Amino acid sequence: MQKRLLIISAPSGAGKTTIAGRLMSAFPQLAFSVSATTRSRRPGEVDGKHYYFLTHDEFKQRIAAGDLVEYEEIYGNYYGTLRSEIQASLDAGRTLIFDVDVKGALSLKQQFPDQCLLVFIAPPSLEVLQARLAGRKTEDEAQLARRMERAREEMDYRSRFDIVVVNDDLERAVEELVGALGAKLAAE
Ligand code: ADP
Ligand code: 5GP
Repeated sequence: MQKRLLIISAPSGAGKTTIAGRLMSAFPQLAFSVSATTRSRRPGEVDGKHYYFLTHDEFKQRIAAGDLVEYEEIYGNYYGTLRSEIQASLDAGRTLIFDVDVKGALSLKQQFPDQCLLVFIAPPSLEVLQARLAGRKTEDEAQLARRMERAREEMDYRSRFDIVVVNDDLERAVEELVGALGAKLAAE
């Protein structure tokens, strides 16, 4: 069966955002599932496009109202998938791409087992991951250390994903993934 929910997970810095962007160019039917978060906005990020940026109180209200399909506390902030985001797309017959952590991916799969295709982007090594994260310059030393600690845990989840791609060379990894997804994604 062709899938309508493409879930991309990876340790922070493995190239998930970069690869998700490339997949959206390769598959024009993909719309990005905008998550809610309490973390502060990075330069260039747009509210409602990259995330819905909420305060802690707003996020807690959305949890209480049952508006979130899944959520996690990551690096001291909340991140979660809005029910409205998924439902509107499935109702309209659209195909969505998600950027969520490994637990969020497994939770979505549990709730939408027939619709989810789970992709894990792995770094070539933890050393390379650290270098890429440092090169991105969006985290300070303490945040970087926390992301590396979490990356080690996240790598243990890779066997539970449908497709695992090592992001060594970006062009090669994108080509491999586009090839693997072609027949599996709903066309429109
Ligand atoms: P994530 O969304 O998983 O946190 P990003 O897509 O932001 O990761 O990538 C982290 C950094 O690594 C970025 O600066 C990006 O340009 C770089 N990057 C991504 N893929 C590769 C690759 N194959 N080789 C070298 N650098 C890469
Ligand atoms: P970042 O702060 O780098 O944008 O994201 C940090 C982590 O939160 C990443 O692993 C990202 O995939 C994850 N994330 C983003 N949105 C969601 C979401 O809606 N649910 C879950 N579970 N994780 C998310």
